[in-house]
Amino acid sequence: MEKTETSINNNPGEIPMVGDHLALDLLNTEMRVGNESVDLWRSGEDVHAWLERCGLLASASIAAAEKQTLLRQARELRALARHLIEQWKDGQVGDVQPLNRFLDVYTSAPQVMTNENGRLAITRVAKADPVAKLLGPVAEAIAQLLTEGDIDLVRKCAHPECILWFYDRTKSHKRRWCSMASCGNRYKAAQFRKKVGTN
Ligand SMILES: [Zn+2]
Repeated sequence: MEKTETSINNNPGEIPMVGDHLALDLLNTEMRVGNESVDLWRSGEDVHAWLERCGLLASASIAAAEKQTLLRQARELRALARHLIEQWKDGQVGDVQPLNRFLDVYTSAPQVMTNENGRLAITRVAKADPVAKLLGPVAEAIAQLLTEGDIDLVRKCAHPECILWFYDRTKSHKRRWCSMASCGNRYKAAQFRKKVGTN
């Protein structure tokens, strides 16, 4: 049997950042390798590393004891996002209450602080617990996508074996693949083999 060609390993450092939207990159932390569904988050550290890669760790750090909670809640938020986005693509409005609960705990308050020039400035400071603080921006990205995103530009990769999502920001809006280098070529090679095989 032919081996599935993929350039992506089961390694959190190799998580594909092809979504072009934080909410869709969130879904892409689960992918399919061959026939298997693979969760690229195996620990709280994996989630933490992913958040860092997304540029979301500016001020938030997390204690070892909270890493399990981070993994559990991040997976919960991801499942919720997948459900809501798939329903949205099916023309339905899903239950947004669980998403609102993630948003509700992501509280912040304006604070007057001295900035780097020694002047007073207003800065919004998150008051939430560390896990809520870390996942708050991700929950906001999901909310933003569902309310302001263009549904036609939210797409799943056209390769039948791929489950990655992306927001099509190309000028022509004809993007079909998570990545041309992996899925696009993989698909075309398979089509070519099929054609050659039947002729
Ligand atoms: Zn793909």
